[in-house]
Amino acid sequence: MFPALRPALALLALAFTAACTLAPLPAPPTSNPAPPPAQVQGSTRADFNAVVARMRPVATQVCRERSPHLDCNFIVMLDDRPNQQPNAFHTRDERGRPIISFTESLIRELRSPDEIALIFGHEAAHHIADHIPRIQREARTGALLGGIAAALVGADEATARQIMSATATAGARRYAKPFELEADRIGAVITERGGYDALRGAQVFRRIPDPGNQFLGTHPPNAERLREVENAVARHRAGLPV
Ligand SMILES: [Zn+2]
Repeated sequence: MFPALRPALALLALAFTAACTLAPLPAPPTSNPAPPPAQVQGSTRADFNAVVARMRPVATQVCRERSPHLDCNFIVMLDDRPNQQPNAFHTRDERGRPIISFTESLIRELRSPDEIALIFGHEAAHHIADHIPRIQREARTGALLGGIAAALVGADEATARQIMSATATAGARRYAKPFELEADRIGAVITERGGYDALRGAQVFRRIPDPGNQFLGTHPPNAERLREVENAVARHRAGLPV
């Protein structure tokens, strides 16, 4: 590795600390807008707290069963700053303790405790399946290959950094969709074990904008995610491993 390029790798490692976002953004404007839907009751902070109280110990239990080498003591955060996008994510603190964060605006968009539970389970599953270090590894490998390619063509340092950044992103994104689907599967099991209905929770996939099947996009199409949850629930309810 080029000593001069080490700082670039350190920056890349930082860029992947938050593995997942789930953002039901407003639907794009259409030329022929549908009439506004009937007012649907969104969830409240009390609903969120009730779901967390039930789901957190279950997530810890599943974490200890599947990944006993990890810290399974989840920190749950609610971001109630105004003007935050509807969003949820998983990250880890500097000692590896898992953090799950929801914005209050996301909670207001969710229409049942099952939907809150499914998203909570999904975020916990990213930790249990160890996705952050796995994504970081792919990014580092991508950057390394980019660095080698840059050296082979005699690129200057600025160009080499650009190439490494692009190949790091490509390396990380190659696994983004499979990891999202894995988090959907394990998250569905955590949801069901918490006593919630993951199939009802997955109704959220019918409302969030569909990212489509973009090449190197980070999220799979909604229909694929819905199918993943349905298959996982069918296996779990039949007593089969997921
Ligand atoms: Zn995710």
